[in-house]
Amino acid sequence: MKRESYCKIVATIGPASSDYKTIKQLFKAGVDVFRLNFSHGSHEEHAARHAMIRKIEEETGRPIGILADMQGPKLRIGTFSNVSERLRKGQDFEFHLDKVTGDSSRVSLPHKEIFAAIKPGEDLLVNDGRLRLTVEKNDGKVLSCKVQNAGIISDRKGVNVPGTVLPINILTAKDRKDLEFAISLGVEWIALSFVQKVEDIHRARRLIRGRTRVLAKLEKPSAIENLEGIVALSDAVMVARGDLGVEMPPERVPQIQKQIIAACRKEGKPVIVATQMLESMISEPVATRAESSDVANAVYAGADAVMLSAETAAGKYPVEAVKTMDRIIQATEEDPDFDSIIHAVPLPIDETDSDAIASAACDVARNRNCAAISTFTKTGSTVRRVSRLRTLVPTLGLTPDATVARQLCLAWGVHAVKTRDDVENFADMVGKSTRFARREKLAKNGDRIVISAGVPFGTAGTTNILRIAIVGEHEESKSASKSKPAKKSASRKTGKSTEKPASEE
Ligand code: PEP
Repeated sequence: MKRESYCKIVATIGPASSDYKTIKQLFKAGVDVFRLNFSHGSHEEHAARHAMIRKIEEETGRPIGILADMQGPKLRIGTFSNVSERLRKGQDFEFHLDKVTGDSSRVSLPHKEIFAAIKPGEDLLVNDGRLRLTVEKNDGKVLSCKVQNAGIISDRKGVNVPGTVLPINILTAKDRKDLEFAISLGVEWIALSFVQKVEDIHRARRLIRGRTRVLAKLEKPSAIENLEGIVALSDAVMVARGDLGVEMPPERVPQIQKQIIAACRKEGKPVIVATQMLESMISEPVATRAESSDVANAVYAGADAVMLSAETAAGKYPVEAVKTMDRIIQATEEDPDFDSIIHAVPLPIDETDSDAIASAACDVARNRNCAAISTFTKTGSTVRRVSRLRTLVPTLGLTPDATVARQLCLAWGVHAVKTRDDVENFADMVGKSTRFARREKLAKNGDRIVISAGVPFGTAGTTNILRIAIVGEHEESKSASKSKPAKKSASRKTGKSTEKPASEE
């Protein structure tokens, strides 16, 4: 099953999309990566969803990425004797570390990290930013504040402290349990919420110990201040516009989105644009013009993926939302000016063999009108370096590692295939590339493809060769592989192999 677009789709699974039929429809409609949101749902529910996705993977023979999104620290106020209170602009209001019953003058805020860090002049936002209060005094137990705008404050509403770096571990006790559980399921990505600084990623990596890839959700002003370091240390990034638009003025979100995408493209790290992309489709069967434009702008900016949250998790039209997103992506990428727009800012080529080969492969693909760029990869790195260059030619990512194939589902323009075994020699390299390009419908007989690989074959970090081949003509390895006994593919239950023998083309 071949996608017609380069930009990928991430969809969140939830109550509206937890049955096998809907998940399969979502996948067929264009989802490349499914997001399990650990802010909601039990471990049993996530395990069942995970198992259904893996079953669909087996049935379709296509790798599917799974991202487990950690809730992160949620800061909340206590409760009120009257459930809610209306606050006036300019009035005084207090937050107490100790438990107090809330009224029109005070409420408890049981988070000592806030009292340890917030300073006079800094703001507290309540209820998704609807209420803003400025701290005038912090004695360590009581924050005396001035209300900046009139509004309602009510039981257990969420609190944001945009201007304050909190001395907290962004992985709470709940997150650490969820993380271990998600890793035990075998997810490809762990998404970290409320990343503030580079040390947050270091700390998470110490817990994760290389067992899965790390995706930083950028939603705090302090994360934007530390953008380069966070992108460098993460395996992927999400522009988490929901909380970003609370922590920062909404009018700054478009600019920050561009800044994050540019930083990720420079580093070659997959970047997802998330939240409210097709928000109206939670209840309506069609998207608004503004939403279409929002998705298209992320595609024009060169995002690796765009994401659906409540639209697929809790909306009335989950499958329609994916189909709509897919249509917008395709229409945008068909724009005759798309190539020049997406390459408006030139990217530096690193002084490495891998980047030189990636760049040359893209040049050859363009100049020789190749149907596909075929890349062999152990870790996914070579493929990501090609993907980073955003060449409008499909990239076939061939890897014997099922996890790497699934991780590559998030990379722009990459069609990943799990192969049964490593490439063995030049003939095998050409044979595998041409046969898979044809089998996966990226090329037909007579089409030219460009191949990049590393010699010695099957060794990580050796990308050093480039070869042009014609599909149907240069298939030297076919007779060689026929004469060899076929290696047994791994058990279907383990999900370790999704390759069908080449003879099943
Ligand atoms: C966001 O804030 O945009 C986001 C994706 O995170 P969450 O859904 O966890 O709020």
